[in-house]
Amino acid sequence: MEVKKFYMNGEWLAARSGNSYEVHNPATGELVSEVAYGDGRDARLAIESATNAFESWSRLTAGERSGYLYKLYDKIIEAKESLAKTITLEMGKPLKEARGEVKIAAEYVLWYAEEAKRVYGEIVPASLSNKRIHVIKQPVGPVAAITPWNFPVSMITRKLAPALAAGCTVVLKPASQTPTSAVKLFECIERAGFPEGVANLVIGKSSSIGKEFTSHPKIKKITFTGSTAVGKKLMEAASKQVKRVSMELGGHAPFIVFDDADLENAAEGTVISKFRNSGQTCVCLNRLFVHKSVKDRFVEILKRKVEQLHVGNGMDERSDVGPLVDQSALEKVREHVEDALGKGAELITGGKSAIEDTLFYKPTVLSNVTDEMMITREETFGPVCPIYVFDEEDEVIELANDTEYGLAAYYFTNDLGRAIRVGEKLDYGIIGVNDAVPTTVQAPFGGMKESGLGREGGHQGIEGFLEEKFLSINIGK
Ligand code: NAP
Repeated sequence: MEVKKFYMNGEWLAARSGNSYEVHNPATGELVSEVAYGDGRDARLAIESATNAFESWSRLTAGERSGYLYKLYDKIIEAKESLAKTITLEMGKPLKEARGEVKIAAEYVLWYAEEAKRVYGEIVPASLSNKRIHVIKQPVGPVAAITPWNFPVSMITRKLAPALAAGCTVVLKPASQTPTSAVKLFECIERAGFPEGVANLVIGKSSSIGKEFTSHPKIKKITFTGSTAVGKKLMEAASKQVKRVSMELGGHAPFIVFDDADLENAAEGTVISKFRNSGQTCVCLNRLFVHKSVKDRFVEILKRKVEQLHVGNGMDERSDVGPLVDQSALEKVREHVEDALGKGAELITGGKSAIEDTLFYKPTVLSNVTDEMMITREETFGPVCPIYVFDEEDEVIELANDTEYGLAAYYFTNDLGRAIRVGEKLDYGIIGVNDAVPTTVQAPFGGMKESGLGREGGHQGIEGFLEEKFLSINIGK
């Protein structure tokens, strides 16, 4: 099998050490690919490549940069089925979800092809008649991006597209579980004909590459999506040179079902939010709060819907829920379920492997969950839905906000006043009101509190790659 390589300065290169590693399909254990395994030295080469390309890329007109992004969009669309299959083979999500991911990944590129042309400055009235104040926006410089495995293509384009649109050059390190998806995306970048060095890919030892990214003086910004723990380490390291950072980190989403909600709708939303990608999304429901007057009816509807989910290999078009990404993800799910059951939770459905000795876990619903259980405090990142009961609106808002995370929150209600009131009081960056899938390219995605800093998507998503500068101009008289 040919070893997949890094992409730097417009060329495909092996690791300087000559090392490589194997990527296996979590559904079958089969070999998916063999990929070059680099370290800080490879990262340095990639940074040099991005640095050399920065001057000429940033001087292109916005229209010219936009043109490259339009070409990239076309190349992703041409490769969409092959990209989707690679995602499924590499990290297990059902093919229909992988196709959806590729679609949104391409839409980010299209959106920022458009936004590239809308980076406006300002002319501000000065306090002295002989002065003019011009505020202009310029690219921050070469950017280092680090992405997770759970959305191995769209998490890349959500960073790469606005960075390139702003005039930055980029070095990317994808997650070790999903390098093949990143290589496939970079093949699209190559086919789109970007100038050499504008977009670079390095794969390998995360601590060593991360150290190079955060310490190299030419990198002006770190953009990261992943766990809060790693995000904090990167922020600390980046602070030594006061590098710009944007952080898309972990979540612990509350999902509230009020007594006036459409229960069928709310149960459908619960299933989508909780079991999509086997519960391995940063925005997925982690705590389900159901009003006590509708709890029994809601649980009955939810149980029926959850038991209809088809668990299986993502390549099978019937599959709704694929495997967990690896053994440690499975162990964490087991630990949370065993801990909850041991402390008195009631098992509504699931609670065990779907297929023995594999990474498939049954979609699980637990009731009578309490504050002492691990699942109430930690991100499970798996297909387990814990249910809590509440009585009053203020009480549930307090419970929902009682976490250090602040990424996504959801609630279902048919009361207009409540819909607005609750949304204003929840400390979360993304709020779904009768909507289990709020993420979209047009909106600013990102978290409050320890879920992160900065926003990706929307017109806001390009701002993090721009510096604002003002020119105070003395015109003489
Ligand atoms: P992770 O362990 O933090 O890894 C994310 C990325 O960071 C990977 O590329 C990883 O590389 C790299 N990394 C790990 N240690 C590093 C270090 N010391 N220096 C530099 N890079 C390092 O997270 P994950 O398990 O892949 O992803 C799941 C987490 O991401 C969850 O917490 C989820 O909520 C969060 N997430 C957030 C968003 C959002 O938009 N807010 C979106 C998706 C996921 P290796 O794989 O090579 O170690």
